[in-house]
Amino acid sequence: MEVCTKCANPKIIIKRKQSGQALCKNCFIENIQKKAIKTIKKENLIDKGDKILVALSGGKDSVATLDILNTFKERNIIDLCAVTVDEGIANYREDGIAIARKHTKRLGIEHKVVSFKDSFDTDLDEIMKVPNHRISCSYCGVFRRWIINRAARDFEADKIATGHNLDDEVQAILMNYLEGNIDNLKVIGAKTQSKSPLFRSKIKPLREIPEKEIGLYTIAKDLEIHLAGCPYAQKSFRGEISEIIKNLSKNHPTIMYSTLRGFDKIKIGLKKEYSNDFQFDSCIKCGEPSSNEICRVCTFLDELGKKVAIE
Ligand SMILES: [Zn+2]
Ligand SMILES: [Zn+2]
Repeated sequence: MEVCTKCANPKIIIKRKQSGQALCKNCFIENIQKKAIKTIKKENLIDKGDKILVALSGGKDSVATLDILNTFKERNIIDLCAVTVDEGIANYREDGIAIARKHTKRLGIEHKVVSFKDSFDTDLDEIMKVPNHRISCSYCGVFRRWIINRAARDFEADKIATGHNLDDEVQAILMNYLEGNIDNLKVIGAKTQSKSPLFRSKIKPLREIPEKEIGLYTIAKDLEIHLAGCPYAQKSFRGEISEIIKNLSKNHPTIMYSTLRGFDKIKIGLKKEYSNDFQFDSCIKCGEPSSNEICRVCTFLDELGKKVAIE
């Protein structure tokens, strides 16, 4: 009978195809935490005394990020706060917000919910009724980043932690490679920094952990998560890439790891070769950092006939 590779416990919850390693619940939890800590140390994601804002949707990735970073908070290495973005999607977002609130309350972490409605005087349900609107994910991605970055400044946070996992990173690498998008490719990484003081740097402590294992971690730790998928999700290029990687991984279980490792090496050269010094200015409408005179949020809002709320 198969037993835990580490402690010989006969109750195993995972058997890793790539290494043959079998782990029981406690050893698996410890293993995932160690993996995240290894990424944090290797990539220098955290400095002592940092205040880190977790972008907390209530989904498995962000809840696991909060849970793991909280171990640093418990040891008084960092301070944590969290923001949940309410896109205004009826019968969907409410549950995620409730779950995010429960976790932050339980852990005693400052938490704020910021809505599209308060920030932009419109929400996703409303936008989806505007004729000739773009695909929902375009608005969501751009609007959410704007809100989270502003929340980080409001909280006086030094960094923003997101729940990006190994699958997300490999999808982004492949997508942008196949599309020849060097500008996007060179900013993929464990930590993104910007020259603009208005931007907070972003860190991804879970980027070396596969999505499936993050799901299993939340189950093993009995963490409540928001499971529902976004009702506006539709077929996307990312989805197609995700399918390809999943299929490849069946017979090549280490393919995601090797893609990430290879990319991280290439990236050093990529950054040298394609370093651009474009200065970030502030958007003339909303004051947020933008490489153009008018940022994408304000461009989208203009298309929708809305004005941005300037605070
Ligand atoms: Zn064990
Ligand atoms: Zn703007």
